[in-house]
Amino acid sequence: QPIVLSGCQPSGQLSIGNYIGALRQWVRMQDTHDCRFMLVDLHAITVRQEPEKLREATLDGLALYMACGLDPEKSTIFVQSHVPEHAQLAWILNCYTQMGELNRMTQFKDKSDRHAHNINAGLFTYPALMAADILLYQANQVPVGNDQKQHLELARDVATRFNNIYGDVFTIPDPFIPEVGARVMSLQDPLKKMSKSDDNPNNFIGLLEEPKKITKKLKRAVTDSDEQARIYFDVEEKPGVSNLLSILSAATGTPIADLVPAYEDKMYGHLKTDTAEAVVAMLEPIQQRYHDYRNNMDFLNEVMAKGANQASAHAAETLRKVYDVIGFVPRP
Ligand code: ATP
Ligand code: MG
Repeated sequence: QPIVLSGCQPSGQLSIGNYIGALRQWVRMQDTHDCRFMLVDLHAITVRQEPEKLREATLDGLALYMACGLDPEKSTIFVQSHVPEHAQLAWILNCYTQMGELNRMTQFKDKSDRHAHNINAGLFTYPALMAADILLYQANQVPVGNDQKQHLELARDVATRFNNIYGDVFTIPDPFIPEVGARVMSLQDPLKKMSKSDDNPNNFIGLLEEPKKITKKLKRAVTDSDEQARIYFDVEEKPGVSNLLSILSAATGTPIADLVPAYEDKMYGHLKTDTAEAVVAMLEPIQQRYHDYRNNMDFLNEVMAKGANQASAHAAETLRKVYDVIGFVPRP
């Protein structure tokens, strides 16, 4: 079975963007792929986190993973900082990643604009850590949203460069990006992507939000000032409406082209109400299951311990290989 690796940052509550763009694909891949899914807390601290919130968000994320359908019997589910090889390989890959390459990363530009008071070196070298995450497990496929495509290309370049010097050490990973929902946009600013760490909570919908709040946020979503209020899919002309259509499509499983005709003589309000209903329905079973997992700390501990052990075994093997080809003397 092909090896799959992916993760979310515990940098806030997981959003419908994370679910539609990533997690939902993970759930589907569990039966056909050898899957490893992490909560990437090492990545999360590239932006300042409050310790207690970070701990909570990590455990919430773990419970949510399982509430969304990740199964610890089928997949390896773990916390990144429990497997020290991630940080170890990241250091090494830093030494094979060029400043110029990192300079081209749009996420760094976005995040350093948003966190101008804390543009730290970790934020800059984030893609080297992400490359380490993937290459440690010799992953074949990395299911991510569209926003991570650039980082994945960098991981491929670094792996290829390393292999060209030292021989076939790393598997070159392929991105796996869904056709619908690869880029869920912000509700108030549909020109930028939805992010769970957005300062304005009206921009995103968290997986644990109450139906009332979800409905309110979607009703307030920015559309456009087209006087005829026509509803059709065109991300250039109608970014807000197109985002709502994408969310509705992802939540109902109906292709966008099949949705549009039904809105021929309807108003933006109708589209918003229908989208809200569909999102609430999509999240209802997840929210129900979530609390049982979150309240069972023994079970969460068991999952984390087992996941870390399984992940470590693979990660240690790759790291050993890397140390060897680089020329590090083995520890006697
Ligand atoms: P942060 O704002 O802290 O970066 P985030 O919402 O961008 O949080 P990440 O943890 O960075 O979430 O990303 C987790 C996964 O979710 C990645 O695979 C990413 O591509 C995907 N993802 C994030 N945002 C979206 C989005 N708006 N649409 C589709 N997929 C997304
Ligand atoms: Mg992100």
